Amino acid sequence: MNTAAPISTGCTQTPLLRERGQHEVFCGLTSIIWLHRMMPDSFFLVVGSRTCAHLLQSAAGVMIFAEPRFGTAILEETDLAGMADAQQEIDREVDRLLSRRADIRRLFLVGSCPSEVIKLDLAKAAERLNARYAPKIRVLNFTGSGIETTFTQGEDSCLAAMVAAMPNSDAAQLVVAGGLPDVVQDQMLDLLSKIGVSNVRLLPNRSSDQEFGIGPNTQVAFVQPFLGETHDILVRRGAQPIRAPFPLGEQGTTAWLHAVAVRFGISADHVDAVTHSARLRAQKAIAQASEPLRGKRVFLMPDSQLEVPLARFLSRECGMELVEVGTPYLHRDLVGQDLAEIQNGPTLSEGQDVEKQLDRVRAAQPDLTVCGLGLANPLEAEGLATKWAIELVFSPIHFYEQAGDLAGLFARPLRRRSLLGVAAE
Ligand code: SF4
Repeated sequence: MNTAAPISTGCTQTPLLRERGQHEVFCGLTSIIWLHRMMPDSFFLVVGSRTCAHLLQSAAGVMIFAEPRFGTAILEETDLAGMADAQQEIDREVDRLLSRRADIRRLFLVGSCPSEVIKLDLAKAAERLNARYAPKIRVLNFTGSGIETTFTQGEDSCLAAMVAAMPNSDAAQLVVAGGLPDVVQDQMLDLLSKIGVSNVRLLPNRSSDQEFGIGPNTQVAFVQPFLGETHDILVRRGAQPIRAPFPLGEQGTTAWLHAVAVRFGISADHVDAVTHSARLRAQKAIAQASEPLRGKRVFLMPDSQLEVPLARFLSRECGMELVEVGTPYLHRDLVGQDLAEIQNGPTLSEGQDVEKQLDRVRAAQPDLTVCGLGLANPLEAEGLATKWAIELVFSPIHFYEQAGDLAGLFARPLRRRSLLGVAAE
């Protein structure tokens, strides 16, 4: 007879509500706004329309006045009507760009809705341009099209394209997949070094000089949950994914480090010893910042694909009650460990059907709704507190030192609302 205690499965067996309606999210081009900072020797050339150029310029307006790391090759009406040879025009644009910008080492040709509609083959363009410019400059392509995608998928497509171009390697190494702000990346590398993990590679890496290969001795730890395509191509290339909750909050970070340590034969006691003070700091910071969140009800609309790990953090570490956890795509290989840590109870939904989801928000009247920019204003006007999901992608939120700030990001709208309430009385 098996007397072992049943393993908690959390939300892993919860029936999934599949929504296949209207999407209201930014497109994958949005990812360029943070990717260009993480790869300073790269240039992102969007092959798109004036709409695409406007999106980038208004979303990242400040950068346009600095040294830009992205631009748009505009498809004119003649291109869209198939009257011009767009491939020749891409070559001309790239030649012009690279002759002016000797600092570019990696050039990404980024597809868009218009380039997909006219079936412009950017893989062919990248291959042709590579023949001309490699090895000095590497040309890759990915899509940021908004057709049936969400904005974090731009990073996923970009990293998947980078993995596809990597050589094979038998080196024993840890690859950390997912973009992070520099300061957070440094903290992570320090933690990994303290627990005794060496030969750490970063995807994306800051410089093309740091390029590496992939193979069966590559262990991969993910720090962003929206990398489904990157995960799948890494696995196809023989890499070994490390299953762990995402390093958000104190518990998430500790569990992530433990999972990495197990893969490298490092004891849990050693991890606990070297992280002791950082864990205490994070616990204290979360306890303080999450005070307004305790016992409050939260509804996460599908937007950034960070929803499942955030739901784990908000329920397990901040004491919130989850009403619904929606995500554009549920990649169980990536978020399964977070799902297992969420107590069964909330509705779990995948995909979007905005009107139906808004009806459920209105019926539930949560204390806080995490949603896209376009939905936040109408909900606020109806008296509901909201948090913009996109802010979580742009803010440093990972690992111990950011744990209190992460709780604070959710607490701020509730605090503001209670202050306004007091002022109005
Ligand atoms: S890629 Fe598509 S959704 Fe994105 S800005 Fe261009 S046209 Fe709009």
